Amino acid sequence: MTRDQYTFTNPAELYADFDPKRQKQPEPGLDAELSPRADHGEKTYRGTGRLAGRKALITGADSGIGAATAIAFAREGADVAMSYLPEEEEDAQRIAQLIRDAGATALTLPGDLRDPAYCRALVEDAVEGLGGLDILVNNGGKQVYNEDLETLDDQQFDDTFKTNVYAMFWITKAALAYLTPGSTIINTTSVQAYNPSEILVDYASTKATINTFTKALAQQLAPKGIRVNAVAPGPIWTPLQVTEGQPQEKIAQFGEQTSIGRAGQPAELAPAYVFLASPESSYVIGETLNVNGGTPTP
Ligand code: NAD
Ligand code: MG
Repeated sequence: MTRDQYTFTNPAELYADFDPKRQKQPEPGLDAELSPRADHGEKTYRGTGRLAGRKALITGADSGIGAATAIAFAREGADVAMSYLPEEEEDAQRIAQLIRDAGATALTLPGDLRDPAYCRALVEDAVEGLGGLDILVNNGGKQVYNEDLETLDDQQFDDTFKTNVYAMFWITKAALAYLTPGSTIINTTSVQAYNPSEILVDYASTKATINTFTKALAQQLAPKGIRVNAVAPGPIWTPLQVTEGQPQEKIAQFGEQTSIGRAGQPAELAPAYVFLASPESSYVIGETLNVNGGTPTP
């Protein structure tokens, strides 16, 4: 069954043929090598002009949730600057082409989010290349499981916080020089922020930080007409999961513990980002929109 935003369907029966096998890729992983490939809405997302003329910067836009969001934004009328790692050029070029096919501008701006100089240059290059900026999606992220805190090395702890938290701080801070009233910031947190796994101590901690950063900053920027919100995905099929985001033995059952009984696909996240980016969510501020297959949240 092919999913789209508008056809009446039983959500528990969507993606019924999804059946991932054990598989491992080195970080950051490629969607091009994911089996089965993730659904980013390539064949299904239909825009209705909700982001006409907008200019968006999305980190981690080459694959997974960021890629689905990039496609949706372009089909809603936005130009998109894409951040990703140089190793992900193949995935990034595919998504950039889909953005251009929608009649939008795609800028490809590879680099490492752990580097503050890249984060600042990314904002400058996006503003210059798009002619401004009014949507920022902080979505790039690192997740590597670890079963024993005594073996969680300082480098991983640092990389996870740099990628997930510091980059969000550096990029958002740089973007504020350009964001005008009406602009929107959306951060990707996770169900892990409130329901942490014992093997994701570092990652879950960054996601709780992102959630709180979002709610604090939202209050600071609301009087300026800039809305800040977050999306909290549950288990979504992306390269993050096969680059040691999960132990191999969990891949085959990935997502089955949710109420709906299956993993989500990136395409199912994109409408949440579109909603929070667009003026239709004008009174939604400091909110975390959970898209997690039914896990209760605070
Ligand atoms: P993904 O692997 O497709 O996307 C993550 C992206 O982060 C990569 O494509 C890469 O471009 C970027 N990235 C990682 N390290 C980087 C670095 N050092 N420099 C530059 N870019 C870097 O996986 P995804 O699941 O779509 O992840 C997107 C976001 O969603 C992440 O913040 C992740 O924590 C969050 N999330 C994912 C899930 C899930 O189940 N997949 C659940 C909750 C939250
Ligand atoms: Mg990627």
